[in-house]
Order: sequence, then structure tokens, then C-alpha cells
Amino acid sequence: TRYIYEFGPGKTDGDASMKNLLGGKGANLAEMARLGLPVPPGFTISTECCNDYFDLGWRFPDTLESEIRTAMGHVETQMKMKFGDPEAPLLVSCRSGARSSMPGMMETILNVGLCSTTIPGLVEKTGNEWFVYDAYRRLIMMYSDVVMEKADQVVPEDGMGIRLNLEMMMNNLKNDKGYEHDTDISLQDMQALCDRFKKKISQYLKKEFPDDPWEQLMGAIGAVFKSWNGKRAVSYRRIEHIPDAWGTAVNVQAMVFGNMGDTSATGVAFTRDPSTGKNHFFGEWLVNAQGEDVVAGIRTPNPLNKDTKNMQNQHLPSLEEAMPGLYDQLYDIRNTLESHYKDMQDIEFTIQEGTLYMLQCRVGKRTATAALNMAMDMYEQGMIDEKTMICRLNPKSLDEMLHPIVDPREEKTAVQVAEGLPAGPGGAWGKIVFTAEDAVQMAKIGENVILVREETSPEDIEGMRAASAILTARGGMTSHAALVARGWGKCCIVGAGAMKINAKNRQVQVGTRVFNEGDVFTLNGTKGIVYDGRLKMKDALENPKFKKFMAIADQHRTMGVRTNADTPEDAATALKFGAQGIGLFRTEHMFYGADSDRPLFLLRKMILSKSTEERQASLDELFPFVKQEIKNTLEVMDNLPVTLRLLDPPLHEFVPESEANQMEIAKALGIDLEEVNKRSRLLKESNPMIGHRGVRLGITFPEITQMQVNAIFTAAAELIVSGNQPLPEIMVPVTCNEKELTFVKKIVDDSYHNVLKAHNLEQIPYLFGTMIEIPRAALIADKMAKDAQFFSFGTNDLTQMTFGFSRDDIGSFMNDYIDHAILDSDPFETLDQEAVGSLIDIAVERGRKTRPEIKLGICGEHGGDPASVTFCHKAGLTYVSCSPYRVPIARLAAAQAAI
Ligand code: ADP
Ligand code: MG
Ligand code: MG
Repeated sequence: TRYIYEFGPGKTDGDASMKNLLGGKGANLAEMARLGLPVPPGFTISTECCNDYFDLGWRFPDTLESEIRTAMGHVETQMKMKFGDPEAPLLVSCRSGARSSMPGMMETILNVGLCSTTIPGLVEKTGNEWFVYDAYRRLIMMYSDVVMEKADQVVPEDGMGIRLNLEMMMNNLKNDKGYEHDTDISLQDMQALCDRFKKKISQYLKKEFPDDPWEQLMGAIGAVFKSWNGKRAVSYRRIEHIPDAWGTAVNVQAMVFGNMGDTSATGVAFTRDPSTGKNHFFGEWLVNAQGEDVVAGIRTPNPLNKDTKNMQNQHLPSLEEAMPGLYDQLYDIRNTLESHYKDMQDIEFTIQEGTLYMLQCRVGKRTATAALNMAMDMYEQGMIDEKTMICRLNPKSLDEMLHPIVDPREEKTAVQVAEGLPAGPGGAWGKIVFTAEDAVQMAKIGENVILVREETSPEDIEGMRAASAILTARGGMTSHAALVARGWGKCCIVGAGAMKINAKNRQVQVGTRVFNEGDVFTLNGTKGIVYDGRLKMKDALENPKFKKFMAIADQHRTMGVRTNADTPEDAATALKFGAQGIGLFRTEHMFYGADSDRPLFLLRKMILSKSTEERQASLDELFPFVKQEIKNTLEVMDNLPVTLRLLDPPLHEFVPESEANQMEIAKALGIDLEEVNKRSRLLKESNPMIGHRGVRLGITFPEITQMQVNAIFTAAAELIVSGNQPLPEIMVPVTCNEKELTFVKKIVDDSYHNVLKAHNLEQIPYLFGTMIEIPRAALIADKMAKDAQFFSFGTNDLTQMTFGFSRDDIGSFMNDYIDHAILDSDPFETLDQEAVGSLIDIAVERGRKTRPEIKLGICGEHGGDPASVTFCHKAGLTYVSCSPYRVPIARLAAAQAAI
């Protein structure tokens, strides 16, 4: 195998399309060289070599060194210098570079090749002894840390590591001598420091700092490979779902020096502003500096030009002012790169004694707002076409754009109270309250409130709903509060551990500060920061550019997007976000958060009824409420389909917990407390999620189904009479057998005819269908489709039952599955295409065989996950359905899937 690909002014083997083999950095260095930009020559050792290195038991392939020597020869010729030569020594950098950038995760070593034989030659050649020793001390610091300590997995005895030890020595020197900057250190002190560094290394790591250039080089290359399997890089890959098998490339490149004095410099820039997307050249630079000095914050970097000036750097000269000729050259390169790559680029450059060199370019990271603005600008400039524009915005990043946010200008000066996990995006302010009831009460009288809890439970749901934001002291990103908040798109911070909550006294203590009920907090849910007092908000939705962008994207989309909503308010929000109907209306949700406790009471009474007569009486009382709730939502969604799911959860979920509630039921049913408890106990199940729920309830208690279906048809009939066009779709949950559907269909047919007659109507347009959420139902979809006019894939339950993972209990093992790479991602977040996806494919195929025009949708949490939306598009679904705030995400993901 060939392992090495050269780049530079003389000869370039690779190009930008070869990222898999050369890594992003190597491929782009090659591309820039091809464009004729001033790239110092070098060569890339391929990612294949990295994989072979690990396969060989952490050893270099035999042919590698000779390949390196040949390529090094070509670099030497171009540079008119030789690696390890005492008179004209060439120095190189060893730079990691994976396929996709992993910022700060892997290693780069500069100035490789400096040693006792090459130092005098370089001093002679450059006439700049200070520079040589500055470069040497940098090499020592980087090399001892990356190659001698981390790559060899030396565990530091003092827990600090060699890097910190050396940094401390350097800081002590600066303090003792009153040097402000590194550049103030005198030559003698710098030389002495290098000697002391080497002594420390030998004591600390029990190894000598290598004084042979080739030993340094091979050590550095091996260390870059090893950094691919370093702890940091591995955890980063888990989070970003980057496969271990990609490996990293190593770029060996001739050094150019930004630290040779006042005509030398180094800098980083973006071809457009990465935070706003403005079409101006944006960057920072430092005179007489090397490598990461700009990013490391050693000195305040200078602005690139007037567009880059800010409060911190406005007194410093810009590159445009200090080196106008070089700035112009860089500006031209900026234009060349943008018109070549047709996207915003992030670039690294170095100026050595008045000559400009390009060291890196890549597609620049950006905020969602910047991505939107740049994509629209480039499209309007004719730089990119419509499809490219649509694909430039990451659907997931829309989250960031759709919620009101805390005005960043105010945040700068705001007083921080606590920090937690950013569980629900956006910003919010409000008076703090400590119970769900208080949240509801205060919200009713028009107050903005923040519900502060130790942790939330399902009982807090109404308060969470009423609050502008939720703040908890405990819990992680998948805690109850976090899940609920994200579903609603509500601002939420969880696990703010510094808060000591005393709900009884209605106080929260943070350190020495005490806050009382009614005090105002502002939350930044995107960052997880709690501020004292009220900060200004910015509304993100009213962005005309965004509207225009989405309108264009919608033209490319072939799949519909609906929403999961159970209230007229949610339905209205979803409409605003572009929903084309409701894909899941959970009928049980209306019992929580209702204006009065009466419906929940009646439901409980119904559940705890013993005889059919008792139950029927409660159902009759429930009917008007259920009908009205359904009617309200159908009215908002006029002329759009609304999928109403019949009662789904196991009944015991509704059993009253508190004694007061139990007493009330007892009284109403004319039984005693003991009897209430007995009946409640009968409803308890060992595995409720696969117990008496869904359609099974309707089979044992057909009168429940009857009441619900009656309510649906009556609501629709009344709306038709008053001139509306409701389109209800009745959906049966948790089915696994076609005869279940036949059973329910009979009830539906009877009810339909009764309601038609009662309202004197010819017809009510409606559909009858089923959830597909049990593997068996998917496998016999041909039979299910006989009665079902539509399928909706309930992928939460389908995932649960396909994996046999209880979705309420994955917390205890999911992280281990991800850590050990048994699973790439949590299948409840991103649809498992392999198995759950196969079941969907099978159900689609078999369902269509029976009923070619069958409507197909998905209504699990996955409906708002871009990767899953792409899958649904490929599977040929008619629509996806997701929570209101995710509707734009699904719209964009569906458009991208169609492109
Ligand atoms: P990262 O991937 O972390 O950005 P790089 O490989 O880009 O690491 O190296 C970090 C910095 O080191 C670069 O930004 C550049 O300033 C400097 N550097 C790397 N190689 C060279 C070189 N051959 N000459 C001069 N500076 C270099
Ligand atoms: Mg870099
Ligand atoms: Mg379900």
C-alpha cells in the first residue's frame, strides 16, 4: 500500500475530494496547493496507515520509513534545506487531521528537528538566536507532553503532568524577572529555561528528551496516531457518532515561522463572520507569534481589519493597517477560497519575514443564524443554487433559532446565580415559585413564572406547562423535566446543583445568597445559565429571511409534516410553524391541565367503577367534556387531518394517590376507602407498558371506546353543521392482531351511523386506522390494512418492543452501551434503521399490498429527529409528526431528504 501523498508548490498528489484518505486538513492543504496558494510543502501520511498501525499492534508498517524519507527529500529540495542538516536545517510540523474536524481533541507538534546539531545552523542562517530558542522551548513543551507523556501513557506522580510543570517553571521565571509577555523573555533566560526544561523532563519522565531529528519525527508521528485512541478523542467520537475506524492522517509540513520578529505574524480568519453571517472578512492575528498563540489567549490578539474591531482590541493595530500589502494578498486569497469552495472558510495563516503562507482551510463552523444568513446571501449572489442553499442549514440547529433568546448584550453584564445543564433551549424570565400549584395560580393572573424544583415529577405537569421556564437542582439531560421541556420547546435548566431548595419556606439558597418566592430570575436554557433579575429577550421567529428560506425548502419537500398536539394552543403554535395537520392527539392528555379537576375526577370514578352500569354513568358524564376538547382542536385544525388516538395508557396511571382524592371517589361511588384501595390494587400490573392498555382496554370495556368515538363524531358533526370542515382520523393504539381492529371497527361504524342520523348529515369525512407499534403488527401489516386506512408508526413503543428495552429504564445501561460502542446512539433518539427500520419497511410493503393508497405516518419522538426523518422519506411515508417546536426541523430535514 502507498501511505504518502505529497503537497506543495512543486508536486501535489491529493485534492479536496480525498478527505477519507488524507483527512480534512491534508485534503485541503493539497487543494490549496493546487489552487496555487502559498502552502509550505509537505506530505500527508494516510488514515489507512493509522489503521494499519493499530492493526500491527501499535507499530509502523515496514515500508513507511522509506516512503517518508523519499517524500522528505522532495520537501528538502523545494525548501533548499535538509532535515537534520547542521548548516541549513529544515524543521517540520507533525499535524493530526481526521476526516471531520475534532477541535482540540488531537495533537500537533511544531518545530520538529531542532536539536544540538541543528540549533547552531539555524541561528547562523536566521541570525536570530532568540527566535531559535523560543522555537526550541516550544518543541520541548509540546513534545514532552504529547509524545513522551500522553502517547506513552505515563501517569504523572504529582497528578499535574509535564506540561503544567514546565508552564509553571516558565511562569515563575516571568514573575521573578517581571516579564509581561513570553516575547519579553531575554535570550539568556530562554536558553537557561530550555536546559532546565530538559533536566525536569529527565527527572519527571525518567527519559531523556530526544536529540536526534529522525527519532523526534517518528516519535511525533506515532504520537499523533496514538492520540486517535486517546481518552479525549474517544469520548468526543462517542458524542459526535464518529466511527473509530476512520483513523487520523498525519501531515508533515515544512515549518514557516511567525515568531521571527516584527515582520512575522500568525493568525486565524473566517471568510465571513461566523456569528452573524455578515459578508465581511473576519479574523485575528498576533505579531511575532507561533501556532496556537492566537487561540490560546496568551496575548489579546489584534483585529484583522476594521470589521473585526471590538471593545477589547480596538486600540491594537489591525493587519490591514500594519501590513497593508500582505492584508491585500490575504484578502485576495479569501476571495479565491470562497469562490472555489463556495462556502465560508476558516483559515490559518502565518507571515514569515514579510512572506504570507497558508496553513489550513476548512468549512467554518457557524451559528444557526450565521448559517441562514450566509446561505441566503450566497444564493442571492448566485454563488450556490437553491438545493445547496437548503442543505446549508443543519435542521438540528433550528432549535437555537426558533426560541426567544436572552439578549446576548445584556448577558455580558448580568449577575450569574447558578449553572446547570442546558435542557430546554431559548431564554425566559419570571418570578420564581416552588410548587406546581403556585405556578398555575400565578400564571392564571398573568404573571411570568419560573418553576423551581428539586426535580420534577409527572404530578408537576400543569405547573411546568404554566411556567415560562423550569429550573431543577437535580437531574440530567434525560430527566423528566428535560424531556417534557424539550417536547414543548420550553426553556429549561436541570441539575443546577449549587441551588439548595427549601420548598417549604419557599426559598432557594445559592452559596450565601437567598432568594425568595417572587424574586425574578432569567434563564439561558441554551447555555444552562441562571441570572439574577430580568434580562431582555429577543424574538427569533419573526425573521423574514427564515420565512423565505423555509418557503423555498418546502417546495422541494415531498413528505408531509404534522404535529403531535393535544390542545388548541399547541395546535395553533404548530400551525404557525407550518404543520399540515395533527399526527397524534393523545386523548388521555385532556384530563391533565384541564380548567377544572372535574374531568379527571370523572375519569377516576369511571376507572374505579365495578359494574358496567356504574362505568356507563361516569362515561355519560365525561362525554360532553371529551367532545368539547376534541371539538376545540378540530376547529383550530380546520380542513386539516387530525389523528385522534383512543385511550392508550394502562388505567392504573390515573388511580388517585392522595387520600383526599380517594375519599372523594369513595363518596361518589358510595363505597368506603378500603374498597377504593382494593379496586386500585386490582389495577396494578407487573409490566404495565405491555399490560392492560391500548386497544385491550377497548376490548374489555367497549363502552369506553364507544364514548370516545361518539365524542369524536359528534364534535365533527357539530362543526360541519356550523360550516367547518373537520377531518378526524380515528387511531387504535397497541394493536397486534387484525381482529382487534375488526372489533373496534364495529363500534366505530355503529357510532358513525347514529351520529349521522342524530345530526341529519349525509356523511362525515373520516379515516379509521391503527398505530403500528408492536413488531407483530408490522409483520402482519397486510392483514392490519384490511380495516386500517392508515398506519402510524409509534416508534417509541416499536423501539421498546423490538429491543426489549424499557424506555423508562434505559438510564441505567444506555451510557455503557454507547461507551462500549455496542450502540452508536440511543435508539429512542435516533431511529434504529437496521431492525426497527426493517419492520417499518416490511409493514409499508405489506400494508400497500392490501391497500395501495394507505396513508403512512410516524408519530414517535423520532418524527423530529433529522436522521430519522431522512429514513422516513426513504421508506416512502406520507408524513412525519412531531412536537410543535420541531415542525420546522422536520420540514427542513424532509426537504433535504428529497434533494
Ligand atoms: P489544529 O488541528 O489543532 O488546528 P494544526 O495542525 O492546525 O492543529 O496546528 C496548530 C497550529 O500550528 C496551526 O494553526 C499553525 O499556526 C501552526 N502550524 C502547524 N504547522 C505549521 C507549519 N508547518 N508552519 C508554521 N506553523 C504551523
Ligand atoms: Mg488548525
Ligand atoms: Mg405507544
